[in-house]
Amino acid sequence: MLPGFAYARPTTLTDAVKALADGQGRVHAGGTDLLSCLRDGVFTAPTVVSLSGVPSLRGIDSTPDGGLRIGALTTLTAVAEGETVRTRYRALAEASASVGSPQLRNQGTLGGNLCQKPRCWYYRGDFHCLRKGGESCFAVAGENDYHCLFGGEGCFIVHPSDVAPALVALGAALRIVGPGGARTVPVEAFHVPPKVDPHRETVLEPGEIVAEAILPPAIPGLRSTYRKVRARASWDFALVGAAFALRLAGDVVREARVAFAGVAPVPWRAKAVEAALTGHRLDAATIVRAAAAAVKGAEPLARNGYKVPLLRGLVEERLAAIARG
Ligand SMILES: Cc1cc2nc3c(=O)[nH]c(=O)nc-3n(C[C@H](O)[C@H](O)[C@H](O)COP(=O)(O)OP(=O)(O)OC[C@H]3O[C@@H](n4cnc5c(N)ncnc54)[C@H](O)[C@@H]3O)c2cc1C
Repeated sequence: MLPGFAYARPTTLTDAVKALADGQGRVHAGGTDLLSCLRDGVFTAPTVVSLSGVPSLRGIDSTPDGGLRIGALTTLTAVAEGETVRTRYRALAEASASVGSPQLRNQGTLGGNLCQKPRCWYYRGDFHCLRKGGESCFAVAGENDYHCLFGGEGCFIVHPSDVAPALVALGAALRIVGPGGARTVPVEAFHVPPKVDPHRETVLEPGEIVAEAILPPAIPGLRSTYRKVRARASWDFALVGAAFALRLAGDVVREARVAFAGVAPVPWRAKAVEAALTGHRLDAATIVRAAAAAVKGAEPLARNGYKVPLLRGLVEERLAAIARG
């Protein structure tokens, strides 16, 4: 059952920030994750502040420099179907379209997707794990089939968002508004790894709201794509996922940004893959080298070793698809 809470529905961003000023409230966007977290006691909130009455947080617009601004309250369906997103930032359209089910995409928002809580069954269950202030991560010696390969220091969750790796690959930033004013943070620096702080997932301070994502202009020759592998094709979180943004000149990769989903506690920038691609022809030999680089340093737990060949194969398959054009 949902616990009781006070509910506020401001109509401006300024009033939303004011409603969160005591640092105790929680933002309600689409509610697809928030409400189950409240129901399951993942966290409590004396006040829930709905953003649904703030029109400035919705919509997709071009920026003066030729980039794109997407309001945090824009639904994932609107992002996936947006004409400019589909034609110029394909990885973001594909990632948004891969989230959950049509119902979840109609209700779930871009901001909520980036701020959602991890899906680890110990964290979501009745376990006082490290992330909830306990002593240890139960996944280490427990059922770790869906846990991480990289970056698991103390806590072995995977970040559940499909959209975040696409935004990282595309070099996007977030505008964040709070009691201290506004600031801009690259998506790559938005999520907090457990080695920095195992008790938080993002750099958001109490009372701060993600207002919008800002994508840089899509440069000529940019090819981007996102693909995930999941246990059920109908709707599910990523077992492994990969977002690519490559700038090609002919068949030579001039620039590469690659980020993974489902394999690390934060969207995982794959710099070794980028290095294996940059400056090289996107041929079979380069693709094999890049796929090997994707899994270098992976540290599987007892039951998630299957993710290593899955990730390697996914990278190889996606790069081959980009090479075919
Ligand atoms: C069955 C199921 C399947 C799912 N499958 C996937 C999947 O395949 N891939 C995937 O990526 N996700 C998946 N999700 C997760 C998630 O619900 C959606 O991705 C959705 O986008 C979350 O958005 P929302 O607007 O509903 O967020 P909410 O539930 O409203 O909010 C989620 C969290 O973010 C905070 N928040 C929301 N908006 C803001 C903001 N603008 N600023 C600051 N904080 C904010 C809230 O306080 C809350 O803590 C799934 C969820 C369910 C229930």
